Amino acid sequence: MSTNILKQIQVISGAPEKYNTEVLVLFRFEGEANLNLQESVLDEKSNRQIKRSIRNGDFKGRANETLMLYPGDEIRPDRLLLVGLGKPAHYSLETTRLVAATVARKLQKMELQDFTIFLPALFRENTDAFSIVREFVVGTQLSLYKFTELKSKREKTKTLEAVYLLTDSQQDLEKLQQAVEVGKNIARGVYLTRDLVNWPSNFATPSFLADQAETLAKSLNLKVEVFSEEKIASLGMGAFCGVTRGTDEPAKFIILEHNSEKLDLETIVLIGKGVTFDSGGISIKPAEGMERMKSDMGGAAAVMGAMMSAALLEIPLHVVALIPATENMLSGKSYKPADVVKAMNGKTIEVISTDAEGRLLLADALCFAAQYGAKAVIDIATLTGARTIALGDYAIGLFSNSVPLARKLEFAGQITFERVWQLPLFDEYKKVLESYVADIKHSGGKSGGAIVAAKFLQEFVDGYDWAHLDIAGLVSDEKNEFYTPGWATGIGCRLLIQFLSDWAS
Ligand code: MN
Ligand code: ZN
Repeated sequence: MSTNILKQIQVISGAPEKYNTEVLVLFRFEGEANLNLQESVLDEKSNRQIKRSIRNGDFKGRANETLMLYPGDEIRPDRLLLVGLGKPAHYSLETTRLVAATVARKLQKMELQDFTIFLPALFRENTDAFSIVREFVVGTQLSLYKFTELKSKREKTKTLEAVYLLTDSQQDLEKLQQAVEVGKNIARGVYLTRDLVNWPSNFATPSFLADQAETLAKSLNLKVEVFSEEKIASLGMGAFCGVTRGTDEPAKFIILEHNSEKLDLETIVLIGKGVTFDSGGISIKPAEGMERMKSDMGGAAAVMGAMMSAALLEIPLHVVALIPATENMLSGKSYKPADVVKAMNGKTIEVISTDAEGRLLLADALCFAAQYGAKAVIDIATLTGARTIALGDYAIGLFSNSVPLARKLEFAGQITFERVWQLPLFDEYKKVLESYVADIKHSGGKSGGAIVAAKFLQEFVDGYDWAHLDIAGLVSDEKNEFYTPGWATGIGCRLLIQFLSDWAS
């Protein structure tokens, strides 16, 4: 597994000109002409390079613009790197993550081993220093992520080892260092999520996910249980069993629990779709792009990453993760269109397309979730191509039967920039799911497909506040920029961590 977490990220205080570092990073807003006291000192002792580069227009302060200066021998830092923050009015935590990634990637490429950022320029009146430091660390760490497990030759470049965050006051050092640790623990969860998604399905089988859950449980003191196919069948999870029939890989139902022994804590259930490869089954997918279907367990990966971070951060909640894991394949035993399966709550389901397998696993997991008396049950899944049609690349589809729960997820989405957009659950959307042979059909054509899928799931929600997050199309990204350098984005993991942290505080 990837362990690119930096050895050292340290908050320090002192005079920047006296600090021995390979690069001192100075952030500046667009249109900002004045230098603060410490910057003026640096400027004077470096032949006015900062002021001149601004005056000459070589550095404008545009978002993620960079200019390297070589200040000479009168100050300790070897280099000064000016980095633009863009317009002050647009500044947000996302700006922090993006500039952090810009800096880390640039300096990693130069094979430098440490850098120091001068923090005060990032602190604004309307954003708290703790969040800024936390997200700076998140942006830095996530930008350095690499999946190298299956490369036979590892690159032998020097890697960044230390980052120093320099403040001008002594007061908050300890508090800000805590923010660093929180940021690292969030990044560790996302690394796990990305690793699980990046592993191809000949490695990342349902059994592999179960092993990972067991490893996680051992190292972080979580409770773990893994149900075999026999157990899954004996619980009456007939919808899940329908999907598992076509594959030779044994299916697993994984349960991870954080704080299971603390009975006074509120319970939140997270459900992650874990289809380790989705061929579509008998309703087979087109060949083109099918390789991306190793990522159809992105929901499960987000949930496992969030569980890791919840444990590391010691979030005071009882969090239960439910992961139904299987392949969706074709064989002589595969389930077929028009088959009828029975979910755990007794509802009979007419299968239309065997490629709409995710909602079948989730149906049984939602039934299973009822026993926990949870304050909220959230499922996250690469569920529908219709999510992509409706919302494109920049919003997770959100569905919920609870207004406060939806608002909490929206808030967490704004903080993390894993933004969600709520779609309706009007009952009229259910009409297309009427079946002449069973209680319900499990899909109803292309129109409003993401919503119809959510309406189907709602049939298995009983007695709890529920939200469904559709992340189809968002788990992988070939762009390789800023803090998403690998194939897997890790989407959903930070959203869930933020949601849990907010709930607990
Ligand atoms: Mn499918
Ligand atoms: Zn699927």
